Amino acid sequence: MAREILEMVVEKATLELPDTKTLQLKWPEGYNPDFKTGQFITVYWPDTPSYKRAYSLSSCALDRGFYEITIKRDGKMGTRIVDWAKEGDKFFVIPPVGKFLPVYGSGNHLICVAGGSGVTPFRAFVREATRRKLDTKITVMFSVRNPKGIIFKEEFEQLEKENPNFKFLVTCTRLTDEDPWTGRRGRITPEWVKENVTDLAKTYFYACGPNELVEFAEEVVLHGLGVPKEQMKTEKWG
Ligand SMILES: Cc1cc2nc3c(=O)[nH]c(=O)nc-3n(C[C@H](O)[C@H](O)[C@H](O)COP(=O)(O)OP(=O)(O)OC[C@H]3O[C@@H](n4cnc5c(N)ncnc54)[C@H](O)[C@@H]3O)c2cc1C
Repeated sequence: MAREILEMVVEKATLELPDTKTLQLKWPEGYNPDFKTGQFITVYWPDTPSYKRAYSLSSCALDRGFYEITIKRDGKMGTRIVDWAKEGDKFFVIPPVGKFLPVYGSGNHLICVAGGSGVTPFRAFVREATRRKLDTKITVMFSVRNPKGIIFKEEFEQLEKENPNFKFLVTCTRLTDEDPWTGRRGRITPEWVKENVTDLAKTYFYACGPNELVEFAEEVVLHGLGVPKEQMKTEKWG
C-alpha cells in the first residue's frame, strides 16, 4: 500500500514568505505509510502527469495523517505551486524515498548547512529530535540573503527554546552596511563551521539545496575541514 501513487488533497496552503509556500497534503482514508524523516516525495498535478518534481518532506515521520512540503517560487513547478496551489487542489504523490536521513544517536552532533529553501528537511530533523527528546545535538547553519528570507524563523526559534540540544544559526549574505541586522554577516566559512564542532568523530554534516550551495558546503567540510566522506550527506536539487 505504501508504494502506491495516491491522489492527495491540499488541506492547507501556507505562505511562509512571499516566495515560499507549504502544502499540507492529506493522506487518504486508511493510508498509514512507513517512511523516514528526511525523505522526499515526488508530486504532479493531475492535468500534467508527465511533469513530476521531487520535494523534501518538511514534516517528520512522527507527523501522521499528512505530508508537508515547502516550495520556493523557482522554475516551472515551483512557480506554479507558489502562485496557484490552494486548499482543495489535488496532487498525485509518489511515496517517500531517499537516504538523506538524520543519524540520531546518543552523543551525535548533526551540523546541517542550508541555503534558502534547502532548510526544509532540517525542520523535519529538528521536529523529530525535539518531540522524541533525543540527546542528539543539531546545529542548523542557515545562509540567507537577508532576514526576510529566513523560512520557519518562528518555528526554529520555538524549537530552540524547547530543545537544549538544538542551535539555529543564521548568516545574511547580502546586507547593506546600514541594515539593522545584528547577527552574523557573510557566507558560511570553514572557520564558522569549525567553531561549532566539538567532537569531530561524532559529527555528521548535512547540506541540502541547489547544487551550487551543496558543492560549496562539500568544499568547506570535506576539503576545508578534512572530514571523511562517510560523515557527510548531501541532497542536490539541481
Ligand atoms: C530530492 C529533491 C528534493 C527537493 N526538495 C525541494 C524542496 O523541498 N523545496 C523546493 O522548493 N525545491 C525542492 N527541489 C527542487 C524541485 O524539485 C524543483 O526542481 C523546483 O521546484 C523547480 O521547479 P522545476 O524543476 O519545474 O523548474 P524548471 O523550470 O525545470 O527550472 C529548473 C531550474 O532552472 C532555472 N531555470 C528555468 N528556466 C530557466 C531559464 N530560462 N534561464 C535560466 N534559468 C532557468 C529555474 O530557476 C530553476 O532553478 C528538490 C529537488 C530534489 C531533486
